[in-house]
Amino acid sequence: MEVKKSKKNNIISLKKKSKCPTCKKVSKEPFIPFCSKKCANLDLLKWLTDEHGLEIKSD
Ligand SMILES: [Zn+2]
Repeated sequence: MEVKKSKKNNIISLKKKSKCPTCKKVSKEPFIPFCSKKCANLDLLKWLTDEHGLEIKSD
């Protein structure tokens, strides 16, 4: 028997009609919750930067 592994990001489970968290425009498939790949990348980069920023500031 095979077990399906469904790893879904919490981001993807957001409502369909949402706004791009990066530029506040209407989200578009297949980039939801973002409006474009560019915004998705920007948000990811921002998120990663924040993560590192917190660690650096903990000094
Ligand atoms: Zn956007």
